[in-house]
Formats: sequence, C-alpha cells, structure tokens
Amino acid sequence: MNSIRLVALATLVAACGAPTKKPTPPAPSPAPEVPAPQPEQPKPISPVPTAAELPGAAATLRGPERPIANAYRDLVAKILAQGAQGQGAYAKLAYLTDHIGNRVAGSRALAQAVAWAQKTLAAEGHEQVHSEKVMVSYWQRGDLSLQVLAPAPQSLHATALGLSPGTGKNGITAEVVVVDSFDALTKLGPAGVKGKIVLFNHEMPAYTSEHGSGYGEASGYRVKGPAAAAKLGAVAALTRSATARSLRTPHTGMTLFDAEAGDRAIPAAAVAVEDALLIARLAAEGPVKLKLVLTAKDHGKVPSANVIAELRGREQPDEIVLLGAHLDSWDVGQGAQDDGAGVTIMMEALSILRRGGWQPRRTIRVVLYTNEEHGIDGAIAYGKDHAAELPKHVAAIESDGGSFKPVGLSIEGKAEGPAYSRLLDLVTLLEPLGATKVSAGHSGSDLIPLAAAGVPCLGHLTDGSTYFDYHHTEADTLDKVDPVYLQQNAAMMAAVAYVLADMPERLDAQ
Ligand SMILES: [Zn+2]
Repeated sequence: MNSIRLVALATLVAACGAPTKKPTPPAPSPAPEVPAPQPEQPKPISPVPTAAELPGAAATLRGPERPIANAYRDLVAKILAQGAQGQGAYAKLAYLTDHIGNRVAGSRALAQAVAWAQKTLAAEGHEQVHSEKVMVSYWQRGDLSLQVLAPAPQSLHATALGLSPGTGKNGITAEVVVVDSFDALTKLGPAGVKGKIVLFNHEMPAYTSEHGSGYGEASGYRVKGPAAAAKLGAVAALTRSATARSLRTPHTGMTLFDAEAGDRAIPAAAVAVEDALLIARLAAEGPVKLKLVLTAKDHGKVPSANVIAELRGREQPDEIVLLGAHLDSWDVGQGAQDDGAGVTIMMEALSILRRGGWQPRRTIRVVLYTNEEHGIDGAIAYGKDHAAELPKHVAAIESDGGSFKPVGLSIEGKAEGPAYSRLLDLVTLLEPLGATKVSAGHSGSDLIPLAAAGVPCLGHLTDGSTYFDYHHTEADTLDKVDPVYLQQNAAMMAAVAYVLADMPERLDAQ
C-alpha cells in the first residue's frame, strides 16, 4: 500500500463510504441496450425557479477587480440559461439507477455501467470516448445476522462494512463493550477489550450550515475503529451508522485494515443508530451477549475501467480541465445520490457545451472513475497512467456530494493564493443559481492523486443538509434526486468548466 493510497483511504471518509443487496460475480463488460429512453417528466421535489425565471447576473458585480466575471458574464448567462433547460441529466440518471442499479466494484452492474456510459457519451457526439482498464477490489457483502442473545434476545439492524472479513458459519458470540470515542477505547486497554465485541457508539452531530455535516469525524470510527479495536484484542467491531438522522437503516462504508502496518482484520459491521442506542442502554444495565454471523468474502482484484470522454479545445487541446465523478457505488440502494448524480451531472455538462457549440480554448475531459468506494482504484490508476500529462491538467472538479440546490465550489488547500482569488472572481458568475460560495479544504477523493501532483482541485458544493441521511443505505434511490436541481448542477459545471478551460491564464498562474 503506497503512501498516496494510505492518505487516500484515510481521506475517503470525507466523501463516500454501503448495506445489503446480493453482489454478483465479476463479469466481462456486456453491452446493454442504451441509451436511456426519456422517462416520464417527474415533478421536482421542491419548487425552484426554472432557468427562464432565473434573474440575470447582478450588474453591481461588474468592476475591474473581477476580470474573469467581466469577460465571461454574457456567455455564462447563456450557458446557465440554456443548460438548465430540459432533463437530460435526469434521463441518464433514471437509466443508470432503474435499469442498471447499484454498482459495487467487481459486479456485473458496474461493468454494464461502464459500457452504458461509453455508449451514451459516444451517442452524444463527444470525442476520444474510451475506457481505460483498472484492477479493482472485489468484495462480496454476503449475509449478516446480528442478535442479542442475553439479557433480552432480539435481532438487530446491521450491515457489513466494506472489506470486512467474514465470521465463519458459526459466527462470533461474545460480550459487547461500548465506547463513544477512541480515548474511551484506549482507557479500557487490552484488559477491557480482549475477547469482546467493541461497539463504537459515537454520535454524529446534526448538520448546520456553519459547520456542515460532522461526517468526517463520525466516519473516522467506521474507517479506523475496527482496526483499533483489533489491536487491543477485540474479536469483532460494530460502529454506529455515520448519520445524524436515522429511520433504523444501517449505513455501510469502507473500513480499513492496513496489513503492512500490522493491522489484524476482524469482522466489522455498522448498526443502525437506534440499535447502537439499544445496545448501549442494555450494556449500562449489565453484561450483554451478542452473536454476529457474517459471510462477507474478499475475492481480490478483478478488471474494471474508468470511462473518458472529451470536448477538444480549439487552441490548446493538450491542456485539460478534468470533470470527475465515480461510476461505482455501494451494493445498496441505487447509488443515486452517491454518485450517480455526479456522474450524470458531468456527462450532461459536457453535452450542454456540445449542444450549444461552445468550444473553449483548452480541452474539457470527463473522467468517470471506477471503485472510489473501497480503495479509489480508478483514481490511483488515472494518476499513474496519465502521470506525464498531469502538468497539463490546468484544473479538476469532482462532483461527489449529491445533487441538491447548487451552492458553490470548494478548493483543495487554504483560502489564499492566486487560484483561490481567481475562484472568488469566477463564482460571481454563478449568482443566477445562487452558487457563489467558495470554501477551502477538501475537493474530492478521486482527485487526491491530482492534488498531490499540484493540479488545482475543486469540489462541487450543493446543499448537504440531507445527503448523509441516505448515504450508503438502501434509501439512496432516484426519488431523492430533484430533476431541476440536477440539471442546474449540470449547467453550473458546464459554465465553470468552460471558463476554466477558456480563460487566458491558468487558474493558478502566479
Ligand atoms: Zn461518492
């Protein structure tokens, strides 16, 4: 496991993370019938203005301090207005979710999604449409049963964590010990943990617009908790689902056992928030005996692929603005918000520019990554296979936070420097969508290798107040996606990509 991969895996908690549909065996890429038929026009979930109703960019923003906005205001207004029309993004997402379904690495569905994406991108007239082979982890969830044997026998709601080993058919029966933090685990020490099942009952705080979701910290228990419990002699680990709001649905996601660091892999599962609270209440009264049976299995690496398409630049086609999202999902729900939405936003963004005849100076390249969810295999492969070309990547944007009301962009790193300043100028163009926020920090898991190579990396921000309610659960389904916001997000990405690819200087020029 190289250092990028380790950093990458640790950082995965920032974005993504899956429950219980039977995975299918690895398969060669079949070619399903595509592209999507136009679905019935769904009603938006929330009333939002159509593009025609959106106000124009405010004249008050004009001024010498905003050279990018001043140069592109009229064109961006056109891209946003035309791009936000129709439901091209939703038609694609409806096919991906309803006809292909969830797409975990190694599954036949992911191979179908790779073939569908390629065919659809080619049918929409893009250039350089192809796939690039990537070896990905193939892990099967199998079945899970978690029961309280004593003092009050009952079944609990749980699902395996990605890459967890199985328990064997007889399962693991042991007393549970409940902790709410890594410090509390450390205090218990081997004497309090050896031979037991550890439950990390860490509460994820509610979303606030000021602080965001709290997912980063909460998911740390899912990613690193089981390995930490194993070090002290635990026989299995449970983590409270990383969500602030629960309807007794467990949230899966990856857990990390680093064999090179000497981690011992133990069976690990996420329990629904309600079940974590139940176990904690019973354990406060006295000893609680649990039985966990888990048939998860790791099949090693199998072939998959990243899918690539381009709108070639008119003057400097060797320079690239990359639009990224991940084609895989967990093996639960439909992978609609995570990350079918991002995939179809980026596909549609390219098509909006193609349909409008808007060809920027540089090339815009869509990369639909494989296996972000348990190992960012596609991102690592892209970084290696395109290493010589990375200095020509002038910017990269990832959409992997769901599609809700457009909010703005994040930028990898600190709130300073030329790229940050130019971004503050650029986002004023998105005022018609109300998407003028810029936050410094993380961009996207699939961009980690690009950020490490010095490429300016941006993340697509939408209203994240409900994203983690559905994230990595059976509830991540198409009906959670508002078709109007989805198309607005595609228009936003088209506009941002166009400007980044066309402006005379690179985003990060000194
Ligand atoms: Zn994701």
